[in-house]
Amino acid sequence: ESFSSEEFFKNVTALNDAQKSAIQAKGRVLVSAGAGTGKTKVLTLRYAYLVQSCKIPLTHIMAVTFTNRAAQEMKGRLEQLMSIQTKSLWIGTFHSLALRLLKSAPERIGRKPGFSVLDTKDQGRIMGKLLKAIKAKRQYTCQTVLHQISQWKCQTWLPHQVPPAHDEINLTLYHHYQQELELTNSVDFDDLLLLSYHMLKADEALLSKWQRYFKHILVDEYQDINSLQYGWIKLLAAQSEGLFCVGDEDQSIYGWRGASIENILRFQEDFPGAQIIPLEENYRSSPAILSAASTLIGNNHLRHGKILRTQRRDGEKIQVQGLWDSKEEAAYVIKKIVASHQKGRPYASMAILMRTSAQSREFEERFLVEHIPYQVVGSINFYERQEIRDMLGYLRWIHNPSDGLAFERVMNTPRRGIGPGALGKIYSKAKAKECSLEEAGRILCEEEKLSSALGILLHQVQKWRRHEGPLEQLAARVFQESGYEAYLLNQGNEGISRQENVKEFLKALENFQNLEDFLDHVSLLLELRARSSQDSVSILTLHAAKGLEFEETFLVGWEEQLFPHARCLSERDLEEERRLAYVALTRAKERVNITFAWNRRTLQGQMPSSPSRFIQELPAGEIDLRLSLEKASASSMKHFPSAPKGVSVSSSQEAIRPGVRLFHQVFGWGIVESYHGNVVQLVFKQYGTKSVMDSFLFFTEQK
Ligand code: ATP
Ligand code: MG
Repeated sequence: ESFSSEEFFKNVTALNDAQKSAIQAKGRVLVSAGAGTGKTKVLTLRYAYLVQSCKIPLTHIMAVTFTNRAAQEMKGRLEQLMSIQTKSLWIGTFHSLALRLLKSAPERIGRKPGFSVLDTKDQGRIMGKLLKAIKAKRQYTCQTVLHQISQWKCQTWLPHQVPPAHDEINLTLYHHYQQELELTNSVDFDDLLLLSYHMLKADEALLSKWQRYFKHILVDEYQDINSLQYGWIKLLAAQSEGLFCVGDEDQSIYGWRGASIENILRFQEDFPGAQIIPLEENYRSSPAILSAASTLIGNNHLRHGKILRTQRRDGEKIQVQGLWDSKEEAAYVIKKIVASHQKGRPYASMAILMRTSAQSREFEERFLVEHIPYQVVGSINFYERQEIRDMLGYLRWIHNPSDGLAFERVMNTPRRGIGPGALGKIYSKAKAKECSLEEAGRILCEEEKLSSALGILLHQVQKWRRHEGPLEQLAARVFQESGYEAYLLNQGNEGISRQENVKEFLKALENFQNLEDFLDHVSLLLELRARSSQDSVSILTLHAAKGLEFEETFLVGWEEQLFPHARCLSERDLEEERRLAYVALTRAKERVNITFAWNRRTLQGQMPSSPSRFIQELPAGEIDLRLSLEKASASSMKHFPSAPKGVSVSSSQEAIRPGVRLFHQVFGWGIVESYHGNVVQLVFKQYGTKSVMDSFLFFTEQK
């Protein structure tokens, strides 16, 4: 079906004038606008507009999304809007589109049809071989080298293009690695973009064919593209009638993966004559949410600054609640979810958003126990994650020497050079002797010197079985002594987050007296998990939440060190953390609940924590702040006659510890240095160090 412009917009209601003109804009366009202003909606409708009113054939439009989930959503909406099939259209993530380009001419990049795309495990296997071949020093590990190679690839550099003054060994390995991929007729994930980019650059005829083919290119979440993606788009869009990008520099949150916020800030320089179209009307969130988000992001410097307004007048204040620890936090959040559900809010319209995926465990356990349906979006449920399963494998094997499955899982994890050949021998021996795999391995090691690495492991497991003392200590020992921790730490950012998960796992063990009870508990959780349902609460990391919206959100763990994360305190990283906070706040339509714990359990035990600086950056008028510990018994609470109305006073004395941030009525926020008797020494930004009576201290809002 085709429509004139007028007819098109008659059919599509609910668009403001700025949105309409964005949909029809010609040439190079950047829609630069805040959260919830309809960027994704405009991009989707523009696709339909190009087809229905401008008669652009479907297959000549490319639409790039950031995640597969976003691509799925866009396809779904287009199918409804136009009654079409979207399967064969150029709508997808950068990687999926690049793969299609490569498949159209694999011989140009030295591949045969049917080449394979490697996953990280395969990459590691190849790199391991190469490292061995050149007898590289210990400091070169698969993960560090592959990480470096990936960074070079994201800069668009092929091996011979890496500028001088980079590490020679890494570079040699990069050369060998690419040769190996070609030999095995495969490519890695970064290659999809890198090789398609160079394939086009090297072949003018081919390039020009594709440049003329894509008449229009649409890119969502433009703020998060890296140099390679940027180069790729710029190349493909050179001859197109239209390049239409939408983005929000305040939501650029992938700097750690090489994305550069500068790409969006200098759009007009890169594409001379480009139009920048702002959208200022927010349709998603209540005024309180919007005002909180705008005030917070106003503290960043690296931005253009935008106006964001709403016609809505309704809405509740943002609820900020302090809890004693993460356990109470989970209980509190789930209590509120149940209350909202009882008032008619579907589970699926609520979400818990967290900074790190490790935080999900307490919530998941609570959900399972209370029989409330949930799903972990964009990542895997806690106990199903690879690193957790590996650790569980060790514990199962320690507990049960004849658990062959567990033995098989951990025998060569981390890699110890115990290959399929050795495993085959172990199998046959076990069969012949009718014994467990472990026993068979022992016999083979002792009698036939099968593998010294296996011998060491078998010796270790016996030491672990004799371990006395708390369970979490045993697990921490296994984590370290097995070499698994070192193995994770060699995997860059990915490895650090996996390590955080294992540390969280160790904490879970604290609640159990013996291994058997714990393993039963986990089996039960996994069993409960298997019965899931449709209407479920989402648990997501802040990174996975981009572009999504919910009625009500729970932003948990807003504490210093956790959010902003301890690793991200440099000026630049801190701005990215603040953008994450902005993304977090702007996901909700109706209600935002923020929580933090005064104590976070770490491996060192309960550690005092203090509310995130981002809480203090929220406008006092829009939030309903309760810093007190909900459950703290009345006797441990102090009540100050001078406390302003509406603010509960907190601070059981345990909460006053060095490093904690307290608010003083006269001096404002300060950090505790020491605490003796009833005198607290605090450092204040403006006044320096002061000694004050603890009866003067209370936590409250800043303004
Ligand atoms: P984000 O920055 O979070 O990705 P966005 O700018 O892409 O947000 P959308 O997700 O497209 O925003 O839209 C936010 C919400 O506002 C959606 O529910 C959308 O349907 C609604 N919306 C957008 N424009 C209008 C409008 N003109 N009238 C009514 N609702 C609208
Ligand atoms: Mg969007």
